Amino acid sequence: MSRHHPKNTTLAEFAAGTLDEGRSLVIAAHLTMCGECREFVAAMEEAGGQMLDATEPAAMPEGALALAMTRLGLEQPRQRLLRKGSPLAAVWQPEKNELLGYGLGPWRWVSPGLHYRSVKVPAKSDTRVFMLKAVPGLKIPQHKHTGTELTCVLSGAFIHEGGRYGAGDCDDADQDVDHSPVIDEGEACICLVAMQGDIKMTGFFGRMIQPLIRI
Ligand SMILES: [Zn+2]
Repeated sequence: MSRHHPKNTTLAEFAAGTLDEGRSLVIAAHLTMCGECREFVAAMEEAGGQMLDATEPAAMPEGALALAMTRLGLEQPRQRLLRKGSPLAAVWQPEKNELLGYGLGPWRWVSPGLHYRSVKVPAKSDTRVFMLKAVPGLKIPQHKHTGTELTCVLSGAFIHEGGRYGAGDCDDADQDVDHSPVIDEGEACICLVAMQGDIKMTGFFGRMIQPLIRI
C-alpha cells in the first residue's frame, strides 16, 4: 500500500539502466513493495525495447560491444534480479547482514535514538548509500542538500512536510527540499537512503551526524 512513489523521471532512468547503482538499489527496494511502479517500469522497458527494434542500425564505435557486454555482465543481472518484485521480506532479513545482495556495515550510534549503517555498493559513484534507524518520536534535525536524496522506508514511518511515509514509501527529494522529519509513533523507522552531493546540517545533532553521512 505505497502512496509515495519515486518521480517518473527517476523510474524511467531506472528502466533505461542509466540510474547509478546506489539510487537503483533504493528504487529496487521500493519496487519490491509497489506493484504500481513495477508496472510502470515494465511498460517503460517494453517501450524502450520497441524503440530499439524500430531504430536503423548504426555503425558502432570500436569497443562498444565489449563495453556493452561489461555493462550487461556487471549491471543487468543485478538490476533484473532487483526488479523481480519479491516481497521485501524475501530479500531483506534484518538478521542477515545484507540487503538485496549488498553487504551492510555494522549499526553505528549517531545520537540518542539514531543509528546508521553503510550499504556497500561496489560501483564508484558520488552517491552514498546507507540505512538509518530511528526510534519513535525522534525528530531528525533540519537539513538541506546540495544534491539529491532518495529514501525508501523499510519499516516504521516518518512524517515531514510532504506527508507520512510508511513502509514501502519512497521520498524522491530535490536539492531545494528542506526537511525536518519526525519519526511516527509505534515501531522504529528503518530507511534506506541514497544521497548525492553534500548534506548541510544545522543544530547539535546535525553536527554529530554530518561526519558519518560524509563517509
Ligand atoms: Zn511506487
